[in-house]
Amino acid sequence: MKIAVLGLGAMGSRMARRLLATGEHDLTVWNRTAEATRPLTEAGAAAAATPAAAAEQCDLVLSMLRDDDAGREVWLAPETGALAAMAPGTVAADCSTVTPAFSAELAARCAERGVDFLDAPVLGSRPQAEAGTLIFLVGGRPAVSHRVEPVLRQIGGAVHQMGPTGTGTRMKLLLNSLFAVQVAAVAELLGALHGTDLDTARAVEVLAATPVASPAAATAATAMLGHTFPAAFPIDLVAKDLRYAAADAASRHLTIALTHTAADIYQQAIDRGHGQDNITGVVQLFRAAAARLTGGGALRR
Ligand code: NAP
Repeated sequence: MKIAVLGLGAMGSRMARRLLATGEHDLTVWNRTAEATRPLTEAGAAAAATPAAAAEQCDLVLSMLRDDDAGREVWLAPETGALAAMAPGTVAADCSTVTPAFSAELAARCAERGVDFLDAPVLGSRPQAEAGTLIFLVGGRPAVSHRVEPVLRQIGGAVHQMGPTGTGTRMKLLLNSLFAVQVAAVAELLGALHGTDLDTARAVEVLAATPVASPAAATAATAMLGHTFPAAFPIDLVAKDLRYAAADAASRHLTIALTHTAADIYQQAIDRGHGQDNITGVVQLFRAAAARLTGGGALRR
């Protein structure tokens, strides 16, 4: 297949590299900041100057971009946007985490050109992207999804067809909200142990051994015992996803209160300079608060 990958950030660069490693595809890459294309061109990809140039003559165009605004620019810009260069019957798949409203907008614009659209966000972070174990959540026509599934399976370990356009995106926001709410709850509760005689490391050990903690919460709790939080899923992106989930619910006149509260917590972490830390770094907010209240130092281990 002739494939383009648009967006070579932490995730897109790893996904493109997996496609290249198969040796089966003619791959063109594009990134707003052009330096990011170099490691991939050195590995055999072609680089294009614009999304439109990358998408030209491609059977499949994948994007992995930060948010709705980035997607709108990269796919829909009148002169340089990818969609303008795509032929009828080709497939546009947006793997970014965006709003269902944006997925619907992009699908409608694709339909005007006869291009088949899939929202195909992924669950999993940098290690899973590197290992090819991402989980795809796909919205769109099943026939289109089946056509590109062999390629998605070269990037990820599972491909779940969720339903019509936007359902992949909505499922992704649901999962990220559930994950982020759990991580915030664990962070708050560990922070609240400060100044008590329950040892935090022992609490985490036992928590992880009980059915009360989900595997995700247990892994996060263990990571919170450390003092550095190198980004896999940075807090900046967590807050974005929670805002999107809340906005999607609000568009249907619903309030998802726990997601709102978690969004506020991650925003506070960003305001305190932790936006580039991994999601588990949110514990720093509660450590600092507990230490201020009790006049103590760092969270007891
Ligand atoms: P990232 O490292 O921050 O990369 C973001 C990408 O979007 C870069 O290629 C960036 O280009 C591009 N971009 C941002 N604004 C743009 C604009 N206005 N116009 C054109 N390009 C723009 O983020 P990531 O971790 O790869 O995440 C990408 C997407 O996947 C996000 O939607 C994220 O929520 C989702 N996701 C992330 C994870 C994770 O664990 N990190 C996991 C699953 C899904 P530049 O290089 O020029 O800045």
